[in-house]
Amino acid sequence: MKNNFLNKMDFIIFVVIFISLLVIYMNYTNTKKFKENPISKYSKQQIEDKRVELVSIIEKKFYLSLDIPIIVMDNKNLIFKNSRAWGITEYKNGNIKIYIKKNILKESEKYVLNTVLPHEFAHAIMFKNNHFYEGKEGHNSKWKEICETISNDTCSMYVDREKVVKQKIDAFFSF
Ligand SMILES: [Zn+2]
Repeated sequence: MKNNFLNKMDFIIFVVIFISLLVIYMNYTNTKKFKENPISKYSKQQIEDKRVELVSIIEKKFYLSLDIPIIVMDNKNLIFKNSRAWGITEYKNGNIKIYIKKNILKESEKYVLNTVLPHEFAHAIMFKNNHFYEGKEGHNSKWKEICETISNDTCSMYVDREKVVKQKIDAFFSF
């Protein structure tokens, strides 16, 4: 009787360990696949749709034509060197470009669309109006006001971990 119980426990423990290892392995291969491949067509389209939406909002609200590219870059790219930022808005010789870190799309695509992109476009609007880094590396009250005008977000300088997790959970339950 006792022996039988132990065997059952052994079996349960074996199954639990086996499933855990399987989950770890699947997670590992998914991460590897994501790292080695370009972002999906679906993600690309989501970003492009959001870009077009923001460009049109900016045209209406600020009378500015900001048809600028969004470039998804590998984390190892020089543009992100020594930076913990998820996105960077670059102003070079009058040209504005927005860079997004590739692996954050894996973290939370919704957060990128709803928070990171408006955040970066607000920087672009500031640049376009010749406001360059007046305090808080450009994240001043003027920037915040612009960012909140073009999004439904409470814009902040840093990544809001809580919001990322929340949007991740929302995305999970929306399937
Ligand atoms: Zn910023």
